[in-house]
Amino acid sequence: MRPLVRVALALRRALLGAATLLLCTSLAAFVVYDAKHPLPLVYSAVAGVLIAGLVAHRLRTRLSALAPSVTTELEIGALAMVGAYLLVVRADESLDGPAYPAVYLCLAIVSAFGRPGAALVALATGVAMEAAIRLLAFEEADLSDTLPHVAFMIIFTGFNAAVLRTELARVRTAMVARLKDEVEKLRTEARNYRLLGTTAEAPRPADDERLLRSGVEEIHQSVLFALRLVRQTLDLHTAMLLWKNDAGSHLRISELVTDEPEIGEGPFLVGDGVFGAALSRGAIVSLSGLKEGYKLPYYAGACPVRTVCVIPVQEHGIVRGLLVVDRVADRAFTKHEESMLEEAAQYAVRAIHNERVFLQLERAKAEQGKLYRAAEALNAAKSEEGVIEAGVHSAREVTSVDYAALTLFDPATKTHEIRVISGDFDDGDGTATIGARFRANTGLVSMALENRHPLPYRGQFDDKKQTVFTRHLTPPKMPSLFVLPLAAHDRPLGTLVLGSRRRGAFGESVRGTLEVMASHMAVSLEGARMMKRLEELATTDGLTGLLNKRAMLDVAEHKIAASRRFGRQLAVLVTDIDHFKRVNDTYGHDVGDVIIKGLGDILRRAKRTTDAVARFGGEEFVVICEETDERGAMLLAERVRTELAKTTFFAGPAEGSTEQRTLSVTCSIGIATYPAAGASWEALFKAADTALYASKQGGRDRTTVYAGPPLSQRERAA
Ligand code: GH3
Ligand code: MG
Ligand code: MG
Repeated sequence: MRPLVRVALALRRALLGAATLLLCTSLAAFVVYDAKHPLPLVYSAVAGVLIAGLVAHRLRTRLSALAPSVTTELEIGALAMVGAYLLVVRADESLDGPAYPAVYLCLAIVSAFGRPGAALVALATGVAMEAAIRLLAFEEADLSDTLPHVAFMIIFTGFNAAVLRTELARVRTAMVARLKDEVEKLRTEARNYRLLGTTAEAPRPADDERLLRSGVEEIHQSVLFALRLVRQTLDLHTAMLLWKNDAGSHLRISELVTDEPEIGEGPFLVGDGVFGAALSRGAIVSLSGLKEGYKLPYYAGACPVRTVCVIPVQEHGIVRGLLVVDRVADRAFTKHEESMLEEAAQYAVRAIHNERVFLQLERAKAEQGKLYRAAEALNAAKSEEGVIEAGVHSAREVTSVDYAALTLFDPATKTHEIRVISGDFDDGDGTATIGARFRANTGLVSMALENRHPLPYRGQFDDKKQTVFTRHLTPPKMPSLFVLPLAAHDRPLGTLVLGSRRRGAFGESVRGTLEVMASHMAVSLEGARMMKRLEELATTDGLTGLLNKRAMLDVAEHKIAASRRFGRQLAVLVTDIDHFKRVNDTYGHDVGDVIIKGLGDILRRAKRTTDAVARFGGEEFVVICEETDERGAMLLAERVRTELAKTTFFAGPAEGSTEQRTLSVTCSIGIATYPAAGASWEALFKAADTALYASKQGGRDRTTVYAGPPLSQRERAA
């Protein structure tokens, strides 16, 4: 169906394209004809409206499309040019009149905003129209007048395409750069207020960015409020809060209210004039009687104020910034006013402090949420694969993870095996593959598990110096990598290797969360393994590793139902070792067990992959063969019987002797087939057992096929 739809769509598209081309050509023909035999104005008006409407429609399509199609732009280019010629011919009745520049204008617009293809189509349309009108309409024999026009058209197209497009690209780049600047400014402010760690941490995920933005905004609002208040109360000209940068070398205006039209934006050196004095003394500096020539760092021109007061802003005894106030009146700040300003400074500090605590709480909450979700997902995972998937998914919520690998450790052989690799890397990146094994070594994986400690230390990964798996088994090249040991109840299980293309993806805060997650993951992994083992125990026979009776009953129901649905045959074999009690009595129970195991191995080797074999209890086995008739079942039974008969078992020396004893045993087999012998499992098993009894009665070491009436009939009658 789908190819048909695709063909229909392509056909529709082609027809629409052809229609536009036809329309465009007809309009062009009309323009040429109209130039030769001018028709009443109304015809040209209709053609003009038609062209304008078509261009407007195409423009709407182009502007609303996410990825504008090339055809739309080409159509706009061609139509617009035909329109331009219609206008010129109508207005001037010549191609050399005053209206002609409309053609150049049209070309310029198309080449500036359209793709190069559209500009070329517009140019070609222009040249064609020019030639057609001159040759066909005006019947000019000499086309030399065309050449300057064509030359100008080419120049306009090329010039516009080059200049305007470059200009547009430049504006776009400038806008991106400005956005980046804004983000960087926000981050610097956040860092100065100690909302962010002081070290240049890797960029944070988007919601954290939002949190930061609102934090910085909140601080600005609080401080601005305090500044406005003191300015009104104390009749100030300027009031501003300056904040030290990370390095403590500069002061930046963090908030400002002023009547002064022009203020130096800074940043200012910490040693600058009155700032330096207040900072070095760590106390209020208050000056009055300032002359016009006095230099205040933040006023560019003459000093507009006569009084200034600079108050150091302290947090935990460390000066973080300055509150600077001044007024035009030559009236020194009183002690009372100074203490009020100190209050305002403390208010600002408290606002910043509160915001920091709030932010930390918010972050902790977000972190807890992630851990909670991780725990939930890990608890829900029931299989090894499920646990790994949940673990990697949760790690991705904490930081950007591009690569994840899980290794499992086998303590018996002291080898690691890479069990899972996820991430979108090319095959050429790294040599580590799923299933690769390696012995314990000094690589990060081995060491992390041995010491039960995540590596590399402090998350500082250097792919040139550090080995992850082995020197020959490497992950793809990434700047960040972190190996988490997985151990449950101090039993080493394996490791989770996380990698990121982002530098510093495993920063301090992230590492803690990942460690908690890894310990949870280890417990879940252990749980999943236990579950798998329990399941195996519940469905397999301990001695032979074959299915047990309970599991076989499930399989049997399944297979019989499938045979009924698809109308296929099915065979059931029941085997029983001959005179087994005697074997036990003579050689002991242990030797008996070896023989049971031996027959189990023979059956396992003889069966096809679609057959199911179970130990049904004691020394009896059942085989169910799908799509098998009497003859096929007989072949299998005989193969098993002869194989067992020629197998020699070792029984060890008898009491008081050193001579090794050997023995061999035989078995009897009964066969029943579906649907001949019965339609249900009970009926089939009973029939096979009846056949087995016949084998025993007939002298043992033989196979009998059930030949009685279908047992299901009797069942139904009962
Ligand atoms: P027959 O030829 O008629 O089958 O004679 P038999 O002695 O084999 O009789 P039957 O099949 O009834 O005997 C089953 C014996 O298998 C009884 C028991 O001693 C032995 N047996 C059952 N389960 C086990 C087992 O797990 N290990 C061992 N060693 N012997 C078992
Ligand atoms: Mg038996
Ligand atoms: Mg027996």
